[in-house]
Amino acid sequence: MKKTAVVLPMVSLRTTPNSVMETQERIVDILKKNSLSVTDSRKKILRYFLESDGALAHADIEHQSGTEFDRVTIYRTLQTFVDKGIIHTIPTADNAVRYALCKDDCYAGHHHDDHVHFMCDQCGTTYCLDHITVPGISLPAGFKAQQTDLVVSGICSKCNN
Ligand SMILES: [Zn+2]
Ligand SMILES: [Zn+2]
Ligand SMILES: [Zn+2]
Repeated sequence: MKKTAVVLPMVSLRTTPNSVMETQERIVDILKKNSLSVTDSRKKILRYFLESDGALAHADIEHQSGTEFDRVTIYRTLQTFVDKGIIHTIPTADNAVRYALCKDDCYAGHHHDDHVHFMCDQCGTTYCLDHITVPGISLPAGFKAQQTDLVVSGICSKCNN
């Protein structure tokens, strides 16, 4: 089954706080483009990503939503977004998978997130370094890379001030 690539704009996915209406429209637009029905949980969880500076863990979403959604709903929603190429996962050393919006040319069943991730030891924020590509590594004969993840840890620019 071949799907048309959903090209998400490079910068405009992130929003400023005063563009609430615009965010709402963008959320519905993203869901519709991915042939997802517009449900409360999908709208809310997508909004967290659009309004967040860094990546989100399952626990962050649970904290933000309070008792509104149960764990299973959050898991299912995140999984649907990953399957659709809306968000990607970031494996981290503490075993708490983080999720972040895809800004690359991702679509259902096909992710192109080849950027480096940065995890701040001080504030715990995980960032997508969108413009820094994971360097290619040469593998032994017969090995074929499917995906390469690179997570750099250290102090982020906010904490470094
Ligand atoms: Zn992706
Ligand atoms: Zn930091
Ligand atoms: Zn990322």
